[in-house]
Amino acid sequence: MNLEALFVQNKEQSIQGRYITLEHIEPILQRLNTANQLQEIGKSVLGKSIYEYQIGHGATRIFLWSQMHGNESTTTKGLFDFLNLLHSGTDLAKQFLNEFTFCWIPMLNPDGATLYTRANANAIDLNRDSQDLTQPESKVLRATFERFKPDYCFNLHDQRTIFGVATTGKPATMSFLAPSYNEERDINESRLKAINVIAGINQVLQQFIPGQVGRFDDSFNINCIGDTFQYLGVPTILFEAGHFPNDYEREETRKFVFYSLVSAFNVINENDIVSNRIEEYLNISQNNPVFCDFLYKNVKINYDGKEKIINFASQYKEELIDGQICFNAYINQIEDLENRFGHLEYDAQGAVYTDDYDNIPKLDQKANFYLNKNIEFVNGLIKK
Ligand SMILES: [Zn+2]
Repeated sequence: MNLEALFVQNKEQSIQGRYITLEHIEPILQRLNTANQLQEIGKSVLGKSIYEYQIGHGATRIFLWSQMHGNESTTTKGLFDFLNLLHSGTDLAKQFLNEFTFCWIPMLNPDGATLYTRANANAIDLNRDSQDLTQPESKVLRATFERFKPDYCFNLHDQRTIFGVATTGKPATMSFLAPSYNEERDINESRLKAINVIAGINQVLQQFIPGQVGRFDDSFNINCIGDTFQYLGVPTILFEAGHFPNDYEREETRKFVFYSLVSAFNVINENDIVSNRIEEYLNISQNNPVFCDFLYKNVKINYDGKEKIINFASQYKEELIDGQICFNAYINQIEDLENRFGHLEYDAQGAVYTDDYDNIPKLDQKANFYLNKNIEFVNGLIKK
């Protein structure tokens, strides 16, 4: 199977970048609503539609939801690419539609998507509301789960650029978790199914992004939706789409989401019930928050009349300004950066730091400064 060609053929061209709202996806959903697959299943806090899209007539029932966190849109893009594949009329599409029934909530948190926030319009993290079910979006998700009765759940997210793979200095471009169903983090039959799927995905991804797949922390928290569904006996797989070098728009990562979905359904299709891939799964290195966007090393500052060599870091904040996501870099750490990596690292080799303020880097200050007065950094980067 040539995944790259498959992706190119099926990529949904009408959406790109990080800011994906209901208004962006409604026209695609309408276009793909060729046989009444689309239903409105509820409303968000601010009255926006929450949709479900069902396709396929197979025995294995797959439930997926994306943008539970409004600003985590990469898996939404990857799922539309996959949906185009299902509509492609190819043998692979027919095979998937014969084997599976897919039920997909493409945007569980449309208010957060518009506001570009993790939380919903009531500032509640929906991924901590799976027991209390205080929010309309949580209720919709739970009701759909109970009505659809899935065999597998796919809980689809983005992770921040801070995550790397163990201590290798590689970014965690894709991370996965088979959530625990109890405090002891035991592995039962249902969790094992999720583990086997992740091991299968990892085997494929390693060919494309060697060393850039991470395994998420499996501490049990019943308030998280994945843990709840796993606890209720349905194999649940967490996706965390992460950083690929120089891909802040996550258009490369989107491709790996697509590869992961295709691989997951191939693995489930093979239906090897005796397989036990726990060791393979545990061999996926753990996610580790070791990255900053920019790391500046060996910078000379003048502090209290003394010269000193320091390291400091800056990090993008994704700010919604006039309907666009702006990546604005702010200084976020000074010193204590020994075991940290930068997606971009700059060795100042003792060059002197100056800026338009007090000539000393300060937390939360924009990353605009000079080195030796002649190299200008604007928004974290050397000005060209
Ligand atoms: Zn998330």
